[in-house]
Parts: sequence; C-alpha cells; structure tokens
Amino acid sequence: MPALPADGVPHPLLGAPVFLQRMADGTLKQINPFTGTQVWTVPGRARRPGARVGGPATDPADARPLTPADRTGACAFCSGRYLETPPERARLVAGPQGERMIRHLRADHVFDTVAEFRRIPNLFEIVSFDYWRLNYGHRLPDSLRETMLDYLSTEAGRRHLDDLVRRRGGEPGAHVSEADRLDHATGFFGSGHDVIVARRHYAQDATVTSALASSGTLTPDEHDSYLRFTIDAQRDLYAANRYVRYVAVFQNWLRPAGASFDHLHKQLVAIDERGVQAELEIQRARANPNVYNEFAVDYAAYHNLTVAENEHAVAFAGFGHRYPTLEIFSRSERPQPWLHSRAELRGMSDLIHALHAAAGPDVPCNEEWHHKPPDADVPMPWRVLIKWRLSTIAGFEGGTKIYLNTIDPPTLRDMVTQELFRLRANGSIADGIRIGPECACVPNSLRYNPAVRRTARPDAAFPPLYGPTSGNASS
Ligand SMILES: [Zn+2]
Repeated sequence: MPALPADGVPHPLLGAPVFLQRMADGTLKQINPFTGTQVWTVPGRARRPGARVGGPATDPADARPLTPADRTGACAFCSGRYLETPPERARLVAGPQGERMIRHLRADHVFDTVAEFRRIPNLFEIVSFDYWRLNYGHRLPDSLRETMLDYLSTEAGRRHLDDLVRRRGGEPGAHVSEADRLDHATGFFGSGHDVIVARRHYAQDATVTSALASSGTLTPDEHDSYLRFTIDAQRDLYAANRYVRYVAVFQNWLRPAGASFDHLHKQLVAIDERGVQAELEIQRARANPNVYNEFAVDYAAYHNLTVAENEHAVAFAGFGHRYPTLEIFSRSERPQPWLHSRAELRGMSDLIHALHAAAGPDVPCNEEWHHKPPDADVPMPWRVLIKWRLSTIAGFEGGTKIYLNTIDPPTLRDMVTQELFRLRANGSIADGIRIGPECACVPNSLRYNPAVRRTARPDAAFPPLYGPTSGNASS
C-alpha cells in the first residue's frame, strides 16, 4: 500500500482516497477527510483503563443519598434557583395539551411553572453584546428593547438585574445605578451566547447524588423537545442580529469535557465568522460536492463502521479524530436544522439520544453541531459529532501533530452496537433504529447533494424485473 498522503487523497490517477490504513502490527493510521488530522491507534494502548462505558456518572464512592433540596437546588441551573441566572428568553412547559413555549417571562412569574427546558443568556459570555455594538454598531432590536423595559418595569425584575450585576463582579451589597442596570440588561436581552438548560439535575429515578441526568437518560420524546428547543434558539440568534455569520451549538458533558456545571445543558454562540472548520469544509465541498457521502458516510459503510441508522439519519464510528467520535448525519435535502421537517428532526434526535444512552452518563463528552453557514454557496448536510473525552493529549502529540486515540473506530463500533442492542431490548431507545449489521448502508443516502437525490432514496420502489415468482420458498 502506498504511503498515506497528508490529506488522504492520493494522486488522481492512483486510486481512491485512503483515510484508514491498518499496519501489519495492528496500528490503525487514520486521516480525517475534512480536517486532515492524523491519528494513530496503537495496539496495547486501546484498552487502557478509563471511564466505564455504560456506568454511573461520578465516582460512586463520593455519592450520598439524594435529598429533596438536592433535586431542585444542587446548582444555579436547578429549578429552585431560576433567579440566579440572567432573564429567561424562553421556556418549554409540559401540559395536558402537550408542550408549550413561553417567551420572556417576567421575573415575578418564573416560579409559576416548571420548565422542561429553559433558554437563558450566559452570565459570562464568550462574545458580548458590546462586541457587536462597538464593532458593528449593532443595536438591540425594538421588540427586544420593549421586552427589556417591560422586564425592568417590575420591582422583581429590577431586583433580579441588580443581583446579577453584583454577581458579575460587583460587591455583594453594592448599589447598582440605573445606567449600570440598563447597560447589563441590554447585554442580556441582546445576548448572542445562550444556554439551554434541561429540567433535571439528577435522573428521575435517582436515589444517590452520583446519578446525574444526561442526554441519554432523557426519554426519546424529551430529547426530541431538547433538540427542537435548541434549534428554535439557533434560528432566533441568526434572526436577531444581521451581522451573525455562524451560530455554533455544542454540549460539554462533565468537567473533563469542559463543563462548569454537572447539570445537563447546551450552549449556542453567535460569531461573525464561519469558523476555521467550516471554511476548510466549504473548500472540500466545492472540490467534491458529494464529499459527505463519499468520504464520510459511504467510506464508513464500506469499512463496516456504521453503528446505526433510521429513515432520516445515519451514524458511524468516525475516523481521524483525537478522541473516539461518533458522527451522526442528517439525510435531509435541507441543509440547516431549522429547515428540517419534524420527522427529520425526530430521526436525528433519536440517533443522537441512542448514542448518548449507549455511552452512558459516566463518559465525559462533547457534542458538536456542524451545519452549512447561511452565506455558504455549497450544499452541506447537518451533522452532529459526539466525542468521548477519555484521554488527554500528551507530549508526543504536541511534537508531531500525530494524535494517539486509545479506541480505534472498529472497537468503538463494537462497544456502541453491543450497547444499542441491549438498550433496544430494554425499550430505552426510540423505535425505528437499525443497529450495525442491520443497516442497509445504501450509498449516497445523504440527499443534501442534488446530484444523487434521485438514486439515493433508500425507500425508492424499484419496478420488478420479473413477474410473480412461483416455487416452494416459504418467505
Ligand atoms: Zn442543577
């Protein structure tokens, strides 16, 4: 086999790209088709001890029995402490008629209902309102200004804001001037960095403090609500600020993955660039418009790395990642999540949920969403990556830019598919998911690329080539 070129793509006359290369000793060399990242999995290092897949969330030795106070007040994201976070932008409430969206509750009404999910501005934002104001002359849209003034029209609203100003760096008892209050309120109501917070800190059936509620402990229905509620926020962040070029969505689960709270949440950050990753991908998608089928989903299928699929999405054990990574691709024709149909979103949600459930709440992970930047000219499918943060980067990586990943993609596939079969038998993942060997793996199943749409439909009805068959076959 010829040496692996840096981007996995050999000379055009020499054959198909090679992103996975197994050496005679068992080392698996990998190249990421989108980033060019080089990763090796070395035999013997693969099974080093780490967090136990499928196990409890924190060290059981530190766990103690849960009290009712823990359930509603373990951290500032909990349902008994709504006023410790900035003014809420939206919440999803369960009711007899189904879920209901409530936007911009006043401070004196936040405890009237229990939010299944809340959307709040980040108290310590990455990109502040001032960034947009000073660099672009961005102003708070009139509708949001009215909402803000309404919030500040009540005593409870003003008190809430003053508390937050002090929490952000003032002294506990300090006086907050009206100008200061208005300045901070403008930042919150014009926030471009939001947090989506789930209701529960601990799993519903938890009895000890180690049993955290994670993405995988939600029901498939709850996870679908979580996903759609996040997408609503994503669309809103684009709509509220015309200088926004990309809204990044991610979820850091547990401290080793960068989370500052053990309470399940996602984050959205609006930025004025597409980001390095998207720029690289746009170039690759221009060069080969079918790159996401050819170099990702189909390449994975031909190397037997598909872990699950349903009608609207497909997932595989990714290659060329610094951490064991599961990739979930939407099969929708529409590039952006907020343009997907409900059924398409449900298909994505069910796979993301199942893969989180398969890892279990014990595995620290990052969930990253990638979608076509609205101003990009090439079609790109929406995809979500789940990265297990089981290892740390060592000196070898820093010096060579070759990364060691402790679990190779076939091992990851086996761990996940085994667990998915078990979860399905328990009824704890959604219906309609085909697992590993059951997957049809029809090539070009991602329909974002108009050139392959006609032939790609896995459910396409083919005309029969023969008339009715006779014989003894019983099936
Ligand atoms: Zn909490």
